[in-house]
Amino acid sequence: MLERTLVLLKPCTMERGLMGEIINRYEKKGLRIAGMKMMQLDDAILAEHYAHLVEKSFFGILRDSMKRTPVVAICLEGVDAISVVRKMTGSTNGRNADLGTIRGDYCMSNQQNIVHASDSPEAAQVELNRFFRPEEIFDLGDLNMPRLYALDEV
Ligand code: UDP
Ligand code: MG
Repeated sequence: MLERTLVLLKPCTMERGLMGEIINRYEKKGLRIAGMKMMQLDDAILAEHYAHLVEKSFFGILRDSMKRTPVVAICLEGVDAISVVRKMTGSTNGRNADLGTIRGDYCMSNQQNIVHASDSPEAAQVELNRFFRPEEIFDLGDLNMPRLYALDEV
């Protein structure tokens, strides 16, 4: 099924000059960019986005680290995009993440781990609504579709 998912390029990615390189990986994979923008996050949106972590001892440093620079919010689109992008992301801790994944290739940290990616269809929908207004996500029509997929895959 054609799906949309949310990626955030975290401040560590902007600081390390890796934004283009990470975006390039999604483009090369064949995911389509249906929306993309820079945003300065604040405490309110981070408390919502990381609601499952607010009680954790590291929440304060996580929240502050996500405010160091703007983030880049990206809506990626493709068949099974949610699971494909999670697979490309790799496990949370960059030291354990498989080589070949973004976290496995670009970071050494359990927190400064390059990207956020939605982890389920439910999360993708909620998170895209959190970071994008409807008019900021574009209908790309059949752009590149005949080269990306067989006719019966879409
Ligand atoms: N995080 C952290 N310490 C931990 C677990 C998570 O700092 O022990 C941070 C890390 O940046 C991670 C984010 O909190 O990406 C969200 O955690 P989650 O468990 O949802 O991991 P993810 O879905 O990002 O792999
Ligand atoms: Mg998560």
